[in-house]
Amino acid sequence: MNDTLARLLALSEADALLRALDGRLADLERETNHLDDRLRAEDEGFKLRQDRNRTLRLAALAKSGEADDTDARIRSYQHKLDHDIIPYKEMEHLREQLTFLRGRLDLLADEALRLMAEADADDEKLVADTAEHNARRARLEAERDAVERRRAETVAERDRERAKREKLLQEVPFHLRGTYERLLAGGGNPVVPVVGGVCGGCHLRLVDTTVEKVKADREAVTCEHCSRFLYWRPS
Ligand SMILES: [Zn+2]
Repeated sequence: MNDTLARLLALSEADALLRALDGRLADLERETNHLDDRLRAEDEGFKLRQDRNRTLRLAALAKSGEADDTDARIRSYQHKLDHDIIPYKEMEHLREQLTFLRGRLDLLADEALRLMAEADADDEKLVADTAEHNARRARLEAERDAVERRRAETVAERDRERAKREKLLQEVPFHLRGTYERLLAGGGNPVVPVVGGVCGGCHLRLVDTTVEKVKADREAVTCEHCSRFLYWRPS
């Protein structure tokens, strides 16, 4: 292969590697974002779990407060009955109220106990859930750190390859660089083989003189259809 073509080919290989590295970096970035989403969801889920525990405890406390209030009312009515001189009708009314409130207090006390027991049990379960949450979080963080490390390594590799690529570009004859860069910007590989008389880039049949020039390998020959640089690959 002539020198110019060999340099063009080396440059195109460096560019293919750079494209692959850019693709890998995009994948790693997506992975990082995905892990960030999972971490956020983990934290939000755990916050809801804590809220549920708090709600249970508050309901238990409210019920026991209600029981205390009812108890206080019973005491005050009883005190009135025991110590005050009150009309018979009012006394009857207070006695009825007391019967009603005592029945209610029993229900409230039972309910308060049940809710307290439920809140206590949930406190214990929350300890276990917290440990599981922390473990899941630590695993996600470790995974994220590993992806970040791979990303930093890939960035370093890409920067090294970019520097190499710049050197390779300087080795390509100046008058061919513009064509090469335009082809590269158009996507795909700017340097392709001729296989069976067909351009390896656009897959169109080449005229015989072009194929002969590529075979002779004395200069950089381009495809008359797509302008890609051509090299000979025996079929
Ligand atoms: Zn072509």
